[in-house]
Parts: sequence; structure tokens; C-alpha cells
Amino acid sequence: MPEYKFKKDFLRTPKGTRDILPHDFLYWQFVQQKAEEIGRAYGFQPIRTPHIEKTELFTATLGESSDVVEKQMYTFRTRGGDSLVLRPEGTIPIIRAYFEHGMHTWPQPVMLYYSGSFFRHESPQRGRFREFGQFGCEIIGEEAGIADALVIWVISLIFQEIGIKSYLVHVNTLGDKECRPEYRRDLVAYYRRKVNSLCKDCHRRLKTNPLRLLDCKNPNCIDLKAEAPQMVNYACSSCKAHFKTVLEFLDELGIPYYLNPYLVRGLDYYSRTVFEFFRGDKNPSSLGESKGEDQNTDKKDLALASGGRYDYLAEALGEKMVAGVGGSIGLDRVVEELRAQKAKPFKEKAPSIFLIQLGPQAQRKSFLLFEDLRKAKFNIAQPFSKDGLRSQLQLADKRGATWVLIVGQKEALDAKIIVRDMASGAQETILQNKLLDYLKKKISTRGGSALGGKK
Ligand SMILES: [Zn+2]
Ligand SMILES: [Zn+2]
Repeated sequence: MPEYKFKKDFLRTPKGTRDILPHDFLYWQFVQQKAEEIGRAYGFQPIRTPHIEKTELFTATLGESSDVVEKQMYTFRTRGGDSLVLRPEGTIPIIRAYFEHGMHTWPQPVMLYYSGSFFRHESPQRGRFREFGQFGCEIIGEEAGIADALVIWVISLIFQEIGIKSYLVHVNTLGDKECRPEYRRDLVAYYRRKVNSLCKDCHRRLKTNPLRLLDCKNPNCIDLKAEAPQMVNYACSSCKAHFKTVLEFLDELGIPYYLNPYLVRGLDYYSRTVFEFFRGDKNPSSLGESKGEDQNTDKKDLALASGGRYDYLAEALGEKMVAGVGGSIGLDRVVEELRAQKAKPFKEKAPSIFLIQLGPQAQRKSFLLFEDLRKAKFNIAQPFSKDGLRSQLQLADKRGATWVLIVGQKEALDAKIIVRDMASGAQETILQNKLLDYLKKKISTRGGSALGGKK
């Protein structure tokens, strides 16, 4: 891509953000439409929450000391003095909405999907943006493992249907309030013994967020975790049974998964199932543990989708406990993956009819003519501001039009129109008010290819 050096820096998007241009937008649209279609088919309903939320919503749930709140949130004061943030993630606002609108009185579970932009102040690198797109789905008010399986299933279906054929789901259980404290204690005790080998961040994590130690990308810390206690060995009988249910679903559905004992979400409101989707289908015990800092390794490690159960989130918001599970797809990464595969899963439909006008009078007529054809569901295009017969014909050819309609000065005056068959070059002049019938007849003898609306 050419890099333009602007004299004025304000002519560029802010760091970590970008424009999605028409060609790329088709990928976004394709992925979002497929995701929504599958989500709706499985009973999820759409919801949209604001891009801004009150800061306390996230400090209360994520914790003041979490990486997101400490380093990544875009926080600002309004003129009225309120502290707001650009939403850093999708689930917490939805749980807020769940209570704000009394969804706990609806038939449970409440199943919602969303897509949109989220914002985190991270160091931008490949596949990671400060404004990033996510599609997510949430099942609120259901404790059973079938809900976890359904979220994973829906995400895998979306991947399959958009053409990401090879992926692997990393899964783990984080236990619950029953069994996690003991695990946490042992984990802290283990790392206390190794404290001198830990990186600076992990020193802090040991105090604030010990589970996150398993997540550290520092080579020394990666070596240490091989011997660290694993949550799955501490799970109480109900957490074990819950996890087993989820895995049985994955087996039944043929979803490729990998039990990753180091997969954690460092927040207390997460419980039981956590999962992440990675590209590739190998059982990479090294995935997520790559040493070194080079960008390619890091890119390989980026999850395409992730999620988990958050049975304690409602409590963190000061509400009564409501079980829930959800997952989200990183749209930027998924689109990048499709482009890397050179996939072109959507069709850019060639117009079958191309309307050409010559001269000001014909131009003025062309809008209404175009509209008649659009309403009649013809697949039609027009170069609204191009001049000259030759350049317009070339464009029609380039766009792959089957027929070209030409209105010149004379035709505009006589209310006529020229119909040109692009394949044979044959032309006929007919009255404009006979045009629709004429085209429909032509199409019926040709097999209906000019009508839009059919796929
Ligand atoms: Zn570390
Ligand atoms: Zn448990």
C-alpha cells in the first residue's frame, strides 16, 4: 500500500484506527450478515448499547487494578463532570441493559447478539486495533453446560460458513466460588516460591490477579507455569460435571478442541468454562506460549474468538446472581484471515442492465427511468455523471452488463430508448413506456438472469 506523507498529521486517522474502504467493507458485511443470520436462527436477538458508558460500570466489574481499567480504557470527563468511557468490551454493558430494562422478568434465558466497535488503548500491531469490531452472543439466565456448548457451536458455525475451515478451540474450566479459592491459594503459594524468577508485571499480578500469571508472555514466566498447579485438578464435583457436559457436546458436534490448562481470564466474575478460538488445527501445546516478541509470533497467537461463563458478573454489579455465558468474534482478525486465505466468499453481482444517457435533457430523465427499473427489481447500474457514449459503453462492458439502455438527445425528446445487447451488439429502439414489458419478455426468453432479488 502506498504510504502518503501528509504535511498535516490531522489528515490521518488516529493511531490504531483505520478507515474500512468499500472493498474491505464487503468482507465485514459478509461476516456480520452470516453471523447475524446464524445467531438469529439459533434464537439470539439483536441488541445495541451505547458506545459510551459510565466509568464505574467497568471499574466495578473489571476492578481498578485490571489491565483494561488501568491502561486500556479511554476515559473522559463530560462538560457536566461525569466520567465516561468508550466501551472496552461488550458483555458488561449487556448485563447492565439486562437489569436496566427488567430482562430478568422475561422468559429465561435471554439470548442476545450484538456487533459494533469497541475501544482499547493498546499498542497497535497486526490484527490489533484501538477501535476494533466484535460480533458477540450472550445467553443470560442459564446455568447448564448446554448454553456454553451452544455459544461455542454458534461461533464454530459462523467460522465454517464464512470459510474459516481450520480452527481449534482451546477450553478450560476456572471453577467456581466453591473450588477456585483453594486453587488460587496453591497457585499463589507455588509462585511465591519462584518469586525471584518472575517478571515485573507478574510480581504485581501475584498480589492483584494471580490467575493472570498463567497468561504472561515473558519467557521466564512461561517456563515456570509448566509446573504450576492446574485448575482442572481442583474442580469440585459440580464444576467437573459442568465441564464434562460441555466437552461431551463438543465431542458430539465434532468441534476440534484442546484442553488448555493455562487458558485463564483474570477476572473474578468469570467462572467455569472459558474458551478461545485459534486458527489452524494442530494440537499446539506451544500455542499461546511462544517465546520472543516478534510480531509474527504474536499474530499467530491472536485468538479469532473468545468467551466464557460469567456467573458472578451480575453480583459484581450489585444485582442478584444471574448465570450467563457468551463469546465474541474479533471481526478485524477474521476479516484479515479471510483476506489472507484469498477467500472471496461473497459475490459482487454484475449489473445486467446499464443505463447510459447523453446530453442534459437525457440526464434529467435518467433518474426517473432508473427508478422505474429499480422498482421493477432489475439489477441496474448507471454512471450518473459520466459523459460520452464510448466511455460509458466501456464502463458497461467492464461491469459485465448484459444490456445497455441508451437515451440520447433525440430519444429524450421522442420518449424513446435504445436497447443494446452487449453480447451481439444488436440494437433496437423502443418507446420508453414499453420498456419494462420489453425487458421482461427478453429476460423470460433468456432465462431470468436480469432480474435482481434472486440469488
Ligand atoms: Zn510474567
Ligand atoms: Zn466448583
